[in-house]
This record gives sequence, C-alpha cells and structure tokens, in this order.
Amino acid sequence: MSLKTNQLSLRFLGGAGTVTGSKTLLNFNGQKILVDCGMFQGLKSLRQQNWAGLEDAEEITDVILTHAHLDHCGYLPRLVRQGFKGTIHCTPITARLAEIILLDSAKIQEEDAAEANRKQYSKHKPAQALYNTKDVYKCLQQFQTHAFGEWMVPGPDLRFQFISNGHIPGSGMVELHAGEKVVVFSGDLGRMHPLIMPKPQKMPPCDLLILESTYGDRLHSVLSPFDQLEEAINRANQRKGQVLIPSFAVERSQEIIYLLLKLMSEKRIARQKIYLDSPMAAAVTEVLRDFYHFLREPELREILTSQFEVISDHRASRTIVSMAEPKIVIAGSGMITGGRILHHLEAHISDPKTLVILPGFQAPGTRGHSLTHHASEVKFFGKYHAVRAEIVQLRGLSAHADREEMVEWLKKADKLPGRIVLNHGEPHSSDCLRVKLEHEFHIPVRVASANMELVLDF
Ligand SMILES: [Zn+2]
Repeated sequence: MSLKTNQLSLRFLGGAGTVTGSKTLLNFNGQKILVDCGMFQGLKSLRQQNWAGLEDAEEITDVILTHAHLDHCGYLPRLVRQGFKGTIHCTPITARLAEIILLDSAKIQEEDAAEANRKQYSKHKPAQALYNTKDVYKCLQQFQTHAFGEWMVPGPDLRFQFISNGHIPGSGMVELHAGEKVVVFSGDLGRMHPLIMPKPQKMPPCDLLILESTYGDRLHSVLSPFDQLEEAINRANQRKGQVLIPSFAVERSQEIIYLLLKLMSEKRIARQKIYLDSPMAAAVTEVLRDFYHFLREPELREILTSQFEVISDHRASRTIVSMAEPKIVIAGSGMITGGRILHHLEAHISDPKTLVILPGFQAPGTRGHSLTHHASEVKFFGKYHAVRAEIVQLRGLSAHADREEMVEWLKKADKLPGRIVLNHGEPHSSDCLRVKLEHEFHIPVRVASANMELVLDF
C-alpha cells in the first residue's frame, strides 16, 4: 500500500500579521520550497526574528522570489549562510535589482555593527551583521533567472511560472502546480491604473490564492500626483526656493523623474535642472534602461537615457548642496533615516523658500513621519534643525493595489479561486480585506497568522 502522496502544506514563516519578512514554506511530498525569503524590518521585536534562523534551511531545494524588495529577498544571504545550497528562481530584472538591494543591505548592517561596537551598545559582543558583502556574493551565485511565462520544474509533479504583477520592475505573481492542484501567490500586487509600470496580468485559475493585503483597509487618494506636484513646484519656483525630494531608490525615484519631466514637457512647470543624488537610485535607473520595454510608457526610454543629472560621488554631491541657485534634488533615503538627503536638508530646511516633497509612505519614528506631522524641528548630525521649509506629502503614489483595486483585479479573472488566504498585511488591513472579499465573492477567505500551517489534500 502506498503512503499518502500528493499532499501540499504551506507554512507562513513571515509576512503574516505583518508586512515584512515574507516567507512561505511549501512542502510537497517531502520536497521543501520557499516562496520569498524576506527580512523582518521595523519594530525591534520583528527585527529580532531575523536572528532566530530557519529550521529547514539545509533541506530547502528552491526559493521562488517574487520581487527584489528587501522584505521579500533580504533574508537570502542569511539563508545561504545557514546552509541553503539550492536554487533561487526569479526574473532577470529581479536578479539585477536584488544584487543592488542586497549589497546595500549588507553594507548598512556592517556599518551598524561597526557603530554598535564603537559605542558598545550591542548585547552581542562583538556586535555582528546578519550577513556581510561576502555572503551576498555567495548567494548571488545561486540565482537562476526565468522570463515571465517560462515554466520551471523544480521537482516531480511540480511546476511554476512567473506572471507580471505590476508592482515593481521584474516583479511577478507565481502560478504553482503541485500534482493536480494550483496555488497562486499574488506577491505584492501593483496598481490597476499605474503611472510607469505595466498593469498586473490576470490571475490564472487556481484552487488557492495567497493574496497580499497591505492596503486591505485603504483606498488611495484620487488626487492626481501631476496636479499636486505642479502646484507645489510652481509655488517654490515663484519664491526661488530649492526643491528637495527624499525618495526610495527602486521605482519611486524613476516615477518622480517621469512626473517632473512630463510636467516640464507639457509646460506646466518651468524647465529646470533635476539632480538624482543617490548612487543606489542611479544603479536602479541603469537596470531600467536595459529593460525599459517592461515599462508602460514607450517615452520612458528617452526619459531614462538623459534629461537629468546623476550625481555619483560624494564630492559632486557636496558641490550640489552648496549651489545657491534653485534646483530639484532627488536623494535617498525615502523616509530621511539617512543618506545624502540629510546634507541637502542641513543646508536648506530652515529656509522658508525651500520645498520638501515626500513622495512615499513615512513610517512612524522616522524623520519623514515627523515632517508630515508638522514637526517644528528635526534632529540629525547631532543637532536640531528648525523646520521652516514648506512640507508637501504627495498623495496617491503607491506600488501596492488598494482594496478596490484588489477587488477589480479578482473580477478580471476568468475564474475565481476556490479559496483565498490573505498574507502580507497588518492584522486590521488583512481583516478588512477578508470581510470585503467574502461579501463581494462569497468564497472562503482566511487571514494567515505567523507560523500558521495549511494542509491541502488532493
Ligand atoms: Zn514589494
């Protein structure tokens, strides 16, 4: 008599009850595969989970990586250090972006550990980095790239493919066939009416959909980012002020450049110099130049090849900071937790002529969050700086679908999934989406909790 075969189990090791640390461990007839391998970020209690290790690291044969954001790929070098010797599958753009992002992450961790040792505030003696640059290079050797729509067979009776989901360049949902059953992982789902990304493709028919729920409780602003930028920049230009834009390196910086150049070409704002003062954003832009055909607007190719100045070295950056003439500067980091934007802010944030535009989500505890909450001063470089600049938070830019967009995406599918499990969301967001989807589609919807195990029998 044969043992029970064709049993698939899923364990939610991260990105359940939270938006970081995405990791779902699949076990199909004894073969272990991880979908995403993200780093926990934010609160200390979450970050500490990065140190706990993954029990099955040596037994996992494959990692399927939906996209290059740190909360989906940031744990990979640590997994390799723990003995994972298998293959990391992703699209070619994801591989290029993951290299940039993981090397940056290793550098930050090495610097943080060195700082903790210098100031002796770490519990670990000496303080350690979760992984270093060497670990990243080792891990990159295990990457294997696949085009969208290319089927991969990681084991008997198992196959999967990536389908473009419009979140960031290279990102994809995963359609996985295990025996007779089909599971789709949405990954982070993009916008239904995006600016520069292609729209998410249709969801393929499946028995189970694992759907993200980051904005399950929200609707994005209907304000046009073009109108908001136009008004703010024209005000700053009138008073001859600097325009400083702290921005994320992947997708957001390129989106901002696109918005600005479009406004200039339509003569809605005056032509002016744009400086991209972020080596990481510049490296990402370089990748997008090579893969521009993945982006929605054909004119982006032109935009990405010229028309703005990339500042790579520190000395040039300092020169730009000291230039008195009005200019637009895009620099990291996106939430002003560090990076070159601090030097620009040091020179200009106390000048009422300056405009600071925050184009992304600002997490509580960051300087960006303080600015959006009308802080009268912010501290950096060991000093308090009076905030006299005009602060504008740009609404409506997001790489994630909101609640209605997720419903719209599901309605476009030829067939609804048999059931849905929600992950990648704070508990309130996931639960709001659960209620909405049950109401709208009358199919079973469940919210994943940390370490929850789900067994599918065939
Ligand atoms: Zn993402």
